[in-house]
Amino acid sequence: MGMDKYFVSEIFRSIQGEGNYAGVNCLFIRFQFCNLTCSWCDTKYTWLRKSGTFKEYSKEELRKVIEDSPCHHIIFTGGEPTLYRLDELAVTGKKFHVETNSSILPWELLNINLADGSNFSRSAMDMNIIKHFNWVISPKLSNSGQSFHENKLKPWTEKEFGIFKFIITDENDLNEVSKLIEKYNMSKDRIYIGLEGTNINTQLKPELVDKIINSGFNFSPRLHVMLWGATKGK
Ligand code: SF4
Repeated sequence: MGMDKYFVSEIFRSIQGEGNYAGVNCLFIRFQFCNLTCSWCDTKYTWLRKSGTFKEYSKEELRKVIEDSPCHHIIFTGGEPTLYRLDELAVTGKKFHVETNSSILPWELLNINLADGSNFSRSAMDMNIIKHFNWVISPKLSNSGQSFHENKLKPWTEKEFGIFKFIITDENDLNEVSKLIEKYNMSKDRIYIGLEGTNINTQLKPELVDKIINSGFNFSPRLHVMLWGATKGK
């Protein structure tokens, strides 16, 4: 598939549930398709090609949706949003955020085969535009069942923009994060750690949060999970 179309699973208004802008009123644009297949993915419907639940937009159509939104903050999520030329959607007067699995570098040309074998390609994004985005870089730990894209993480750690978000299930995952941080000499200020799960009980683990605090990382609530569980469009 080429780069001139944007396949969008859903567009909705909510609050950002996680990371350094948690609680902020935002317009979410959830793109269809992902290059990974994480075992605990809560948006598996974005993987599907023939489900008929996604809509095709031109660049102009999607820019108009963004311009017409009363929200100042626009979140590109997925699926994996970096499959698309996000820089071309940047309009003045809005703040853009991107939630990426970190296995694709936006400033590089992309030509990739997705899990179903189909090909996806786009040209490199303009660094002068994307360096102003709030990048939420979310490498997948071994609990996702995915191979770790270490060669892609390093370039992200060398950039001055973006935060790193890890979703953990237990102390073992926390130790895995600590090893990565040490290996890449990453600033703990840029690390946000949230708890895996799809209902409020999974988010209320004070003992695990104590361990996150004592490790020197930021804790990320997952407000959408606490408020609405796994409800789609929230
Ligand atoms: S990277 Fe995100 S959207 Fe893709 S499979 Fe993993 S959790 Fe799901």
